[in-house]
Amino acid sequence: MIKGTKITDLNDPVSKIPLVGPAYCQRLERLEIKTVRDFLWHLPYDYEDYTNTVSIADLQAGQQVTVKGTVIEAKNIVTKNKKKITQVLLRDKSGQILLIWFNQFFLVSSLKVGLELAVCGKPAFFSGKLALVSPSYEVLYNPKQPSIHTGRLVPKYACTQGLSSKWLRSRINYILKNTDLDSQDTLPNKIKEEERLPRLKQALTEVHFPQSKEQIKKSRYRLSFEEMFWWQLQCQWSRQYGREKNSSVKINSSKHLETIRKVVNELPFKITQAQVRCVKEILNDMNRNIPMNRLLQGDVGSGKTIVAALASLPVVLEGYQVAYLAPTQTLVRQQYEKLKELFAKLGFKVDLVTGEQKEELTGDLLVGTHALLFRPPPNKLALVIIDEQHRFGVNQRTKLLEQKVKPHLLTMSATPIPRTLFLSVFGHLDISTIDQMPKDRIPPKTWVVGESKRNDAYRWVEKRVSQGDQVFIVYPLIQESEKENMAQIKAATQEYAKLKEEVFPKLNLGLIHGKLKQEEKNKVIEDFRQKRLDILAATSVVEVGIDIPQAAVMIIEGAERFGLASLHQLRGRVGRAGQESFCLLFTSQEQENVDRLKLLEKYNSGLDLAEEDLKIRGPGSFFGTSQHGHFLNLKIADLFDQELAAKTKKWAQIYLNNKELINQISAAIKTWEANKIN
Ligand code: ADP
Ligand code: MG
Repeated sequence: MIKGTKITDLNDPVSKIPLVGPAYCQRLERLEIKTVRDFLWHLPYDYEDYTNTVSIADLQAGQQVTVKGTVIEAKNIVTKNKKKITQVLLRDKSGQILLIWFNQFFLVSSLKVGLELAVCGKPAFFSGKLALVSPSYEVLYNPKQPSIHTGRLVPKYACTQGLSSKWLRSRINYILKNTDLDSQDTLPNKIKEEERLPRLKQALTEVHFPQSKEQIKKSRYRLSFEEMFWWQLQCQWSRQYGREKNSSVKINSSKHLETIRKVVNELPFKITQAQVRCVKEILNDMNRNIPMNRLLQGDVGSGKTIVAALASLPVVLEGYQVAYLAPTQTLVRQQYEKLKELFAKLGFKVDLVTGEQKEELTGDLLVGTHALLFRPPPNKLALVIIDEQHRFGVNQRTKLLEQKVKPHLLTMSATPIPRTLFLSVFGHLDISTIDQMPKDRIPPKTWVVGESKRNDAYRWVEKRVSQGDQVFIVYPLIQESEKENMAQIKAATQEYAKLKEEVFPKLNLGLIHGKLKQEEKNKVIEDFRQKRLDILAATSVVEVGIDIPQAAVMIIEGAERFGLASLHQLRGRVGRAGQESFCLLFTSQEQENVDRLKLLEKYNSGLDLAEEDLKIRGPGSFFGTSQHGHFLNLKIADLFDQELAAKTKKWAQIYLNNKELINQISAAIKTWEANKIN
């Protein structure tokens, strides 16, 4: 591409941008920047305030400033103790100042005598003289052009090795100057006018290179507005139009109520009213030939599995297939055993589907991981159940779901959506809530345990074990990413060895982590289930769904590393047989974190916790950022910004209810949809 050529399509690959060669493309990809659009929407996470431009004579130590001047001398020197120093002398009308860089001899070639330079940093004393050490600098080839690296609010970007903020800045500046953004603006003019929002070009220019803090706020708001508007529009759209008739199998369950009742009566426990209500809601949905899309939410231990199983019953009785997806092999196994117990005696074939299996899927119930989503769908599939849905971040456009005859979809999650968000953001979803725990369940007593109490806690655990209790110990993953790496496993293994040899030498312990082979995992879990082990230590693999009803004590190490939602899910793993149960949150953290953890001492319901957390800490802390991305694909807009949600929702409705308006933006809808899938 020739320098200066316009970029016409935001979906163009970044390789179309001048100075972005293959190596840079690769580095950009690490930041998930593949297209020009990704690049422009890579917003600064903060700004450096270099607005204070002063004369060299007025420089004072310690003050963040920008100065401009002419290079009058530039040289490299090596000091007595082998330090490589680049020295540049800069002069303006008022005086001169020394600029210093270490180990950057190459700079000399670009900072030639005579060049105009803007530099910023904090002056400090160097060998007794005032100097600017390692300042940011910018060569002012064209003094009329506004600078982008100095003398202003300078954007800071998330970087990666080999990609500096400075480089990103210069490329973004290029894109902004050479792209026809007006034709790419998807926010309808009518909305921009009435809401007094700037055009896209202005918003993007001002978010990257703002003249004031006020501009940052306004432009961010504008970009969030656009994003949230499309999200709301899509939600309303799929609610109103996306549900084509005759596109899925109608399951008439009225014929099978007798069988369902019989199964319920044979359960080893009494089903709760809330569970019954949820089963009915699901069956009602499936009693139409419009595909169901329902979320079943309920605290850990509220009994979602049996609800899903009962709802599956009429489906298999009608001769159709059900696919049940769980996030990990361990959970798949466990749910498989449970479902088999229930369905096999009714004469149904329950199949455990593994990754390697090639043959056609013929079981009535197919249990597997999300790999199932990407297989050719079985013939008579009528219902797909996705357990622990927030773990998948499922893109619903998969082979399994996108068929001519669409299966009904039931997703299940223990991460509650706070009631206050129902209407504003999630109004489009059908939600069933199990808002009642099984009668005999006593919520675990929870304590936050500081470092000084650790040994007391261990002795207490010993006592509980001698009374027959079984204990989980969970180690946090060090990184946000939910994948374990070897270092983390090593750390957990070492901790575990210490625990086994020094802390609990007389007890039987087992360890489970992500790098164990599936058979090894199964064995450890089985040993624990059969009470051959007293304590099961684990990296957070137990977080989702392990069901060992007799376990009574949960210890969580480094509790401050977990979100409240995860902690709440973890403690839901104990006391499932109705026994007294306990959760100890080990933390070595300062007060602020302890206060947050103490919410768990006070509240027993996940929904209450979500509400409280929302009130106290505002957005994001409950789900953690990585999780709300799974619910919706918002990059900029804040899911919890209720005012924005309400406003954009109103506009979405105005557009959808007006044929003319919707026609105006139908092309944009298509583009937006296409971008979203990528
Ligand atoms: P979750 O909602 O976390 O997925 P599960 O479905 O795994 O919970 O159920 C947790 C445990 O509670 C299981 O052992 C299940 O058999 C049991 N259970 C489910 N419903 C009831 C009930 N109404 N009364 C007592 N125990 C129940
Ligand atoms: Mg579950």
